[in-house]
Amino acid sequence: MTKVEIIVCPKCKGAGNHSRHETTCYHKGEYDVIYSDCTACNNSGLVKMTTVVTYAPHIAGRPDLRQ
Ligand SMILES: [Zn+2]
Repeated sequence: MTKVEIIVCPKCKGAGNHSRHETTCYHKGEYDVIYSDCTACNNSGLVKMTTVVTYAPHIAGRPDLRQ
């Protein structure tokens, strides 16, 4: 069984890109905000998470045997 969930991208926290501050003038405290693409979610801010659920039931009377 496979469970597919859409979750907020953990890399960019749903923003769809990464932003960082790059100081352009240290003395004035000026900076540019640099945006870069988030490759984990292709800038959508959401990723598909696939969970494979395995189910191994006990066989009645034989807890040592699993299917
Ligand atoms: Zn992302």
